Amino acid sequence: MSNTLAYPFSEIPPSAIRMEVASGVFWLRFPLPFALDHINLWLLRDGDGWTVVDTGLGVRPSQKIWKSLIGEQLDDLPLTRVIVTHYHPDHLGLAGWLEQETGAEVLISRGEWALTNSICDSTDTQTVDRLRHFLGSHGLLGDDLNKVAGKGNGFRRVVQPLPTEPGFLAAGDTLCIDGKNWIVHVGCGHSPEHLCLYRHEDHLLISGDQVLPTISSNLNVRASEPDADPVTDFVDSLKALRDNLPEDTLVLPAHGLPFRGLRARVDALVDHHDEQLDRVQAACQQRPQSAFDLLSVLFNRKLDVQQLMFAMGESIAHLNCLMLQGRVQREQVDGIWRFSA
Ligand SMILES: [Zn+2]
Repeated sequence: MSNTLAYPFSEIPPSAIRMEVASGVFWLRFPLPFALDHINLWLLRDGDGWTVVDTGLGVRPSQKIWKSLIGEQLDDLPLTRVIVTHYHPDHLGLAGWLEQETGAEVLISRGEWALTNSICDSTDTQTVDRLRHFLGSHGLLGDDLNKVAGKGNGFRRVVQPLPTEPGFLAAGDTLCIDGKNWIVHVGCGHSPEHLCLYRHEDHLLISGDQVLPTISSNLNVRASEPDADPVTDFVDSLKALRDNLPEDTLVLPAHGLPFRGLRARVDALVDHHDEQLDRVQAACQQRPQSAFDLLSVLFNRKLDVQQLMFAMGESIAHLNCLMLQGRVQREQVDGIWRFSA
């Protein structure tokens, strides 16, 4: 979306090998079995131990990588703290397992922890029923609906065990890591209370999924909060980051390469969502549209099952935003919400 970003590191660390990107800050890259095929974790030297930000998906291959890391990459020092940026399973997945294996303390925000527990409390049947009802009312039907809703509570399976008694971080908190202060910033929209960590001394931002260099973070509306407006939440919290942090900030994202150019990136993301909103509104002016009808307007490509679920969330998110701005109205016809402008 933007060609004004600078990428100071062109080499990518092989999995299970750390690469130093700033004083005491190491980049770890773990594979993911999705279209988005990797996640970056950030390992921070912390006195006589280590803090890690994010953990990888809760599956055996990631546990294997962690075992080799603990044996070979931590200089025989213990992992003492695990910070989870947000509830998504590639970030939270192994937090509880690492707590068990190493005794590390887990830190997360209250909002992410509350959502984690409410999702995990849902049985397979409840999850399928809620998803079928919600996505069905937005026009996803037949085989597509069966594939997206048909697997039950998949989340629960890739975040077990959960951390037992995590500590909580909130916006404005300061964490001292290896004698240096990191300030907690909180983003919204991609997840309820997403933690970002900023090291003031050398302008470093661990951004998680809140700011990514080449892809736009997924904005999802959940069945439990069907009228949420994550687009406005996301855009507002991105603008706050842009306005509070210096332009030469080195952004360490959870996916893609470290980059400089935070303002340009935030502006490009804000423009992207403005354009998506305009496109959706224009389509709704031609004829009433369901969120499903709008997938071809928003995504001009073939979507696998996981992408289809993300895309439905994104479509509903933009419709909810337009509705709150008074730019579209909706009417339920034959059980399906149709939006017109
Ligand atoms: Zn995420």
